[in-house]
Amino acid sequence: MKMFNFGSRAIFGLIGSLLFVSIPAHADHAWGNYHWARATSQFTLKIGNNLNNSWGGYLSMASGDWNNPGAVGAPFTPVITTVVSGKSNRNCSMVSGTTQVCNKTYGNNGWLGLASINVNSSGHITQGSAKMNDTYFNTTKYNNPNEKLHVMCQEVAHTFGLGHQSEDGSSQNSCMDYFSNTGTNSTSTLSTKPNYHDFEELTIIYGHLDSMTTVAPMSSATLGAIEDANDWGKLMSQSSEGRSSTYERTEPNGSKTITHVYWTQESVENCRSCDHRFEPHDD
Ligand SMILES: [Zn+2]
Ligand SMILES: [Zn+2]
Repeated sequence: MKMFNFGSRAIFGLIGSLLFVSIPAHADHAWGNYHWARATSQFTLKIGNNLNNSWGGYLSMASGDWNNPGAVGAPFTPVITTVVSGKSNRNCSMVSGTTQVCNKTYGNNGWLGLASINVNSSGHITQGSAKMNDTYFNTTKYNNPNEKLHVMCQEVAHTFGLGHQSEDGSSQNSCMDYFSNTGTNSTSTLSTKPNYHDFEELTIIYGHLDSMTTVAPMSSATLGAIEDANDWGKLMSQSSEGRSSTYERTEPNGSKTITHVYWTQESVENCRSCDHRFEPHDD
């Protein structure tokens, strides 16, 4: 899906300059147009902190960056995050009306970070989760502040309804890209924060008001935990570089749970187009 979006952005730019029409800010990196229902132009999303000390600071930083559009010259953000005590468990069961953030050694399963949202029949997000896989973040390659902040910043923002700005590994200086802050780039702070266009996109996604809200406070009913890859459901899309996949499953109550997976570099090397759940991952 991003492939097409990325292509269409280039085409829009070309047409815009040929015809001298101003093209409105492109809505090209929403995540399937999913968004929280709310009746105000700005809303506060509770982010449940279920992290241990090795991660708490990165969540605070990411939250602060998403709350501060002015840092990149953007005039507004509809989503204000507030970090609160976690209400989940280590497997990150979702809690209605909130995003829960967790870390754990989830295993050599190929993914660095995972974001899931549950979407009701009207297409509104009702709850989200973001997981950081310490099985990789405990290794020398991934255990550095810039890579951790990049992945945290991205996974949390997927639960706002935001998709990627690019998936080819280049840096747009947005955490919503797949630049790798590892190896010779481990000291680079590129792509560790949102950029101007991320706020522009959020403003588009939340440009309308809803008549009701799916944002907490709400009942704290939980859906089944997404504990392993077999719970993710059907593979819906995958980036051409293979590092980003989206899965979807239907819940017993008719709602859908959508999971976004951020794969490690190693896990996609053998076959970029395969469903990486079913490939062997080295220990
Ligand atoms: Zn809506
Ligand atoms: Zn992502």
